[in-house]
Amino acid sequence: MTETLEWKDIAFLREVERRSGTPVSACFQCHKCSTGCPIGAEMEFLSSQIMRLIHLGEEEKVLKSHSIWLCASCEACTTRCPMGIDIAGVMDILRIMAVERKLTDPRTRGETFHRSFLSSVRRHGRVFELGMLTAYKLRCADFLTDLDKAPKLWAKGKLSLLPKRSADVAEVKEIFRKAEEEEKNR
Ligand code: SF4
Ligand code: SF4
Repeated sequence: MTETLEWKDIAFLREVERRSGTPVSACFQCHKCSTGCPIGAEMEFLSSQIMRLIHLGEEEKVLKSHSIWLCASCEACTTRCPMGIDIAGVMDILRIMAVERKLTDPRTRGETFHRSFLSSVRRHGRVFELGMLTAYKLRCADFLTDLDKAPKLWAKGKLSLLPKRSADVAEVKEIFRKAEEEEKNR
């Protein structure tokens, strides 16, 4: 049976294409992106399924999905796509759209994690893991989840008590300022 797309459906596809600058409609479901995704096993929708749902105009299903927040932006999918679709870029735009439309799923705490990560990078010019994790835990009011991993991280030197400020912190702040300005003018 042939699927018929209505105007509303096309509007979502067009918006994602315009804002990500990549031709999502060129996806022909080869699944090369999904088979190379390191987070695929944890996702409710694989990247190729996200592309198909966008084709079908399933805006709410896509924007409410915790898959878009689990994406680690590693770009393996983008590199593997034979159609040159920047899938990682699409995931970025979907997260922005989910926040704008207040459709983020509180179960995943994805938005909270991203905010904690970005404010750490903005302040120090790079991520300060201990500060970022403390801010994240405070925002979630959850101090126990994953606490057992702390000693291992500490032993491997992945956590330091004091932030190591980047020499380019002013430049990083300027990048944030420009990104916010661009976002306002969209
Ligand atoms: S960018 Fe995201 S969707 Fe793509 S392979 Fe990496 S984790 Fe998976
Ligand atoms: S690799 Fe590209 S064409 Fe293939 S399913 Fe993924 S997005 Fe679609």
